[in-house]
Amino acid sequence: MSTKYVYFFGDGQADGDSSMKTLLGGKGANLAEMVRIGLPVPAGFTLTTEVCTYYYANNRTFPPELKQQVLDALKKVEKSMGAEFGSATNPLLFSCRSGARESMPGMMDTVLNIGLNDTTVVALAKQTGNERSAWDSYRRFVQMYGDVVLELKPKDKTEGDPFEVALEHKREKAGVKEDSQLSVEQLKELVAEFKQLIKSRAGKDFPTDPMEQVWGAIGAVFGSWMNDRAMVYRRTYGIPHEWGTAANVQAMVFGNLGDDCATGVGLTRDCALGTPGFCGDYLINAQGEDVVAGIRTPKRIEETLASDMPESYKQLNEIGKKLEKHYKEVQDIEFTIQRGKVYMLQTRNAKRTGFAAVRIAVDLVNEGLITEQEALQKRRIPADDLAQLLQPIFDPASKATATKEGRFLAKGINAGPGAASGVICLFADEAEQFHEKNPNTDIILVRKETSPEDLRGMKAAKGILTATGGASSHAALVSRQMGKACIVGCSAIEVDYTTNTINVGGKTLKSGDFISMDGFTGEVFEGKVQTKPSEVIQVLVQKTLKPEESETYQRYAQLMGWVDKHRKLRVRTNADTPNQADEAIAFGAEGIGLCRTEHMFFDHLDEIRHMIVAETKESREEALAKLLPFQREDFAGLFRSMNGRPVTIRLLDPPLHEFLSDRHLEEQPDLAQKLASWTNSTVDAVKRRVGELHEANPMLGHRGCRLGIVYPEITAMQARAIFEAAVKVKKEGINVVPEVMVPLAGFLTEFKHQEKIIRAAAEAVFKETGTTLEYLVGTMIEVPRAAVRADQIASAAEFFSFGTNDLTQTTLAISRDDYGPFIGYYREHDIIPSDPFQTIDQEGVGDIMKIGVERGRSSRADLKIGICGEHGGDPASVMFCHDIGLNYVSCSPRRVPVAKLAAAQQALAAGK
Ligand code: PEP
Ligand code: MG
Repeated sequence: MSTKYVYFFGDGQADGDSSMKTLLGGKGANLAEMVRIGLPVPAGFTLTTEVCTYYYANNRTFPPELKQQVLDALKKVEKSMGAEFGSATNPLLFSCRSGARESMPGMMDTVLNIGLNDTTVVALAKQTGNERSAWDSYRRFVQMYGDVVLELKPKDKTEGDPFEVALEHKREKAGVKEDSQLSVEQLKELVAEFKQLIKSRAGKDFPTDPMEQVWGAIGAVFGSWMNDRAMVYRRTYGIPHEWGTAANVQAMVFGNLGDDCATGVGLTRDCALGTPGFCGDYLINAQGEDVVAGIRTPKRIEETLASDMPESYKQLNEIGKKLEKHYKEVQDIEFTIQRGKVYMLQTRNAKRTGFAAVRIAVDLVNEGLITEQEALQKRRIPADDLAQLLQPIFDPASKATATKEGRFLAKGINAGPGAASGVICLFADEAEQFHEKNPNTDIILVRKETSPEDLRGMKAAKGILTATGGASSHAALVSRQMGKACIVGCSAIEVDYTTNTINVGGKTLKSGDFISMDGFTGEVFEGKVQTKPSEVIQVLVQKTLKPEESETYQRYAQLMGWVDKHRKLRVRTNADTPNQADEAIAFGAEGIGLCRTEHMFFDHLDEIRHMIVAETKESREEALAKLLPFQREDFAGLFRSMNGRPVTIRLLDPPLHEFLSDRHLEEQPDLAQKLASWTNSTVDAVKRRVGELHEANPMLGHRGCRLGIVYPEITAMQARAIFEAAVKVKKEGINVVPEVMVPLAGFLTEFKHQEKIIRAAAEAVFKETGTTLEYLVGTMIEVPRAAVRADQIASAAEFFSFGTNDLTQTTLAISRDDYGPFIGYYREHDIIPSDPFQTIDQEGVGDIMKIGVERGRSSRADLKIGICGEHGGDPASVMFCHDIGLNYVSCSPRRVPVAKLAAAQQALAAGK
């Protein structure tokens, strides 16, 4: 039997259903499902993702059996719709849309009104009794066909879309503002002009044969799977290129037959903030892409549809409720109203900000639609998105000042929460380049509207501001997903690409000027407005807001309650100071997984430098003795903050020249002299010593436990400081659980050498103070040898912590400090799937970790194992750590909620 490549839907029955997303793509599967649950859907058929795979595997050709299957399905649609494709009396028109397994909003192509030509347009006009709308549809079709299938694009970035330019001229000449005000004659002229444009630019005629048109559209849709913006999007969201897209060919219904017709996109709840209630955008007497493209600012469903079209509004609300109940999830729908009747063109789970995701998930549980376990699903709240709840808001005082100073510029539609201040940039490619050169200067990308081509620039920007478009426009959807502050439809702003300026409220701002925007309210200000922390931070960290005063916080707390109930991994924090520790505890950290002691040394550079240049052990000990009280107080502060939670303190790790190098001597001319006098030495001797510290490859040089082995007095001082602090705090009545960690060990002998010094210091302090306490001595696993010989190391080490920053560096032989220049190229060219210093390279580094876990526990069954590299706050890596049986992850304080959520998600997914 030949492969089934085409799936029909219509007339209350469908070949597919919503479980078939892999084959039919999200759109195709959901169209079939909507037909099955009795919603009004125009008939059509889906060409499967296998067609796409075939297309690319066979030099952009289709499987031979596809043609007949398409013809058969087409006949069925004709029957269902009671019209005929290409008929000169009763023509049927089609749309052709992409639809991948995961939605990729606006990244691929769509063609509408397929089947129109000089003959069918006349028939359509007769049939609908609306000549104007027939010609409007024809005009749109020729335009779309030219743009999408024949790929007629602007010649350069200032030119503007050639069809839009012609349309604009026509409007100007006719003295009208909206396309819908153009007369039949003017539309006819436009069709002729567009055809001419195609002929002169593409060198061929616009095809009039409907079958040729439909195959052209199908080819363009499959071809758009590999366009640049779709590839960038897939890289950003980890969607494999191999998946391919499906294509949906569906009978057209018309939103442009008159004032009882409309086209729109809706959300069953707001997806910027998560507020309940149907909302969205619609345009009366308009067609499909007008709303999504953001070219005209649409009307709001929740504001005016009930009065504009009461009956249709009712239908839409009912459909929305039915869909939410059926899918148990907020839906993002596309619909057309033809003569008062609502038709569904698409439904999918709605993209939402992290802010909205939390609210929606918690509300759905509270409304009884889903369980708390379902609320935690990764697809509902991607763990990374939780960080948006911690996003800044405008500082009210600074905002008041800006208002008083007359710097309020305009108000648009609030489409992505978060406040942002930055320099104006009008072009996406410039934003990308600027960001590369000035990573610390925030950018606000200001555009008339954004199109999928702007994706790279949107990624580089902190905030996105557009003059047109509604809450469902491309800019809004994409920035919501990226967690960027976003305002759309800010019509008071006139963007002038030729002068690189914007005009608003009588003011002209140029590219590079500062502008501020509040994605929570839609307000835009000239210059800078200070931002302040989110409500969750105000409640938890600053304690300036009471929990009962913040609904946002309450929902966060409810969610984190579920998270804590379901996760198995513990979550600690990387913190070096009591402040950081306090913040992490506020976010729910359960201990410190890494205190990098060298950070404390940077506050006491004189003493550490004295220690470094000392020529003798005695002189070194003298310097270290001065450091000891500082270290002790720092550790005591941490122990107090952690109040009985475990605290892992790592001994000195970085090469000594980070504290003292030729560069320091050059920058501070009196430093050598000072050091010489402290150590009873000469300037020359100091310089010689500093010169000796220079290393060609410091990351693989004299660092980690190698320092404590060659200079055991450093380890002795640090261990003493730890135990003196622990005893002191214990005497204050606070439980203390120190875990002393040796860095960069690869040999058992290295570990044992350090362990001996640490235990000796502990015994000495216990004896001197008459107090003892429990403690552990363990090691970081940062070099492959340590993982491979974990069995030996675990015979002495009581815990392991994977230092995956170094383990990645040492396994891949990629320097964590020097990989910048090529990682971008690697990512762009799909050499590696993600940045290995952000997400664990599971097949390489991950396998080494697995070996470490297995072998470590083979000699010490209850070995406690964690991770403290930066990966500890990356959701995919946290999930991997769950899978390989680690006990905890440790990450920076603000990543703690993210890591916890990822841990719960994996525990729930694994427990299924
Ligand atoms: C590591 O290597 O993963 C680690 C946590 O240590 P550092 O980043 O301080 O080298
Ligand atoms: Mg390290």
